[in-house]
Amino acid sequence: MKEDFEKIIEVKDSRTGLHGFCVIHNTARGPGKGGIRFAKNLTVDEVKGLAEAMTWKNAMADLPFGGAKSGIIAREGLDKKAVVRAFAKRLKGILGSEYIAGPDMRMGEEEMAIIADEAGFHSVTGKPATMGGLPHELGSTGYGVALSLQAAQEYFGKGVEGLTVAIEGFGNVGTFTMKFLEEMGAKIVAVSDSKGTIYAKEGLKYDDLYKTKKEKGTVTAHPVGEKLTTAQLFELDVDVLIPGARPYVINEENVGKVKAKIIVEAANIPIEPKLEEMLAEKGVLIIPDFVANAGGVISSWCETRGWDEETMFKVVEKKIRKNVKAMLERDERYTRKAALSIAKERVEDAEVKRGWRS
Ligand code: NAD
Repeated sequence: MKEDFEKIIEVKDSRTGLHGFCVIHNTARGPGKGGIRFAKNLTVDEVKGLAEAMTWKNAMADLPFGGAKSGIIAREGLDKKAVVRAFAKRLKGILGSEYIAGPDMRMGEEEMAIIADEAGFHSVTGKPATMGGLPHELGSTGYGVALSLQAAQEYFGKGVEGLTVAIEGFGNVGTFTMKFLEEMGAKIVAVSDSKGTIYAKEGLKYDDLYKTKKEKGTVTAHPVGEKLTTAQLFELDVDVLIPGARPYVINEENVGKVKAKIIVEAANIPIEPKLEEMLAEKGVLIIPDFVANAGGVISSWCETRGWDEETMFKVVEKKIRKNVKAMLERDERYTRKAALSIAKERVEDAEVKRGWRS
C-alpha cells in the first residue's frame, strides 16, 4: 500500500459537544466509502480498523470506492441532529470528493438527509427514498447473503433447495436472509434474536415468524417449534449456519461443537479469525463477511449512480455471484485469504496505474 492511512481527522465542536473521527484508509480505487457510527466507547483505533476493512470489502465487491469510516462519540445528552450537522460542516471539504458517508450503528436516513443538506447530495448514501435514496430497509444485504450461498452451491454443482439453515439474528440482515433463502427453496429450521432461538425441524415459515416477531417482540414466542438458548443455535445439526448479529459468536468455547458444513458470515467478524482456518481445515466452507455481506455497499454504489430499486437488486446479484466465484476459483478452502488477495491485487493495480507505486 502507498501508506497505511491516507487521512485521520479528529473533529470537535464545543458548541454541540461533537467529538468524532473520519478515517480515510485508501482512495486508490475511488473516494473512500464507509458509514458513520454513533457509539459510546468509540476510539480512533476502532474507526481505523473499520476503515481498512472497507477498503478490502469495496475492492472485493469491485466497486469504484476506496475505504473509509467515521465515528461520533455518543456522549450523554447530545442533540444528535445538531452534532451530525456540525460533523458534516467540518468535513465539507472532503465530503463527496474524498469521502462518501453513509449510515452505520445508530445512524439512519434522517441523519443522512442532514449530511446531504449540509454537504450536498453526492456526499452521502442511505438518504430517504424521497431524496433519491436506496435505504437499507430494502434488504440488499440479506439478499446478498442468500445469493452468496446460492453462488457457492452452484460453483460446486449443487443447489440451495432442501438445505437446512440456522440464522442468528432477526434484524435487518437476518429477516431478509431468511426471506430470500426461503424463496430459493432452503429449509430454515432455526432463527434467534436476543431472547433465544426458535427451532423447528420441519422448517419455519418467514411470513409467520415475521408476524410473531412484530406482534410479540421475539421469535421465541412463535407457536411452532422448540425454544432454545441463543448459544444452542451454533451447535445445531444443520447444513448451513448463518451468524447474522454479533461478533465472535464462534469462539474457542463452542468451535468444537459446530456441526454445519457451510458458514455464511452475514455479521462482521462472527468467528475468531484464527479459528476460521481451523474450521476450513476440517472441511467447513466459509463465505467470509466482507464477501457475503457486501450487498449493502453495492446498494450504496447504485444510489450514487441514481439507479432505482429494481436495478439495484440486479447489480447486487451480478456482483455477489461474480465475486463468490472468483474467490472459490482462487482457493476453495482458505476463502478469506483468497478474497483478501484478490482485493489487495485490485487496490495495488489501481495504485500502480495512478502512479502511486511502481
Ligand atoms: P439489526 O440491529 O437490524 O438486528 C440485529 C439482530 O440481532 C436483532 O434481531 C437482535 O434481536 C439480534 N440479536 C441481538 N443480540 C442477539 C443475541 N445475543 N443472539 C441472537 N441475536 C441477537 O442489525 P443488522 O443491520 O441486521 O446487522 C447485523 C449484523 O450484520 C451486524 O454485525 C452488522 O454490522 C452486520 N452488517 C449489516 C449490514 C446492513 O446493511 N444492515 C451490512 C453489513 C454488515
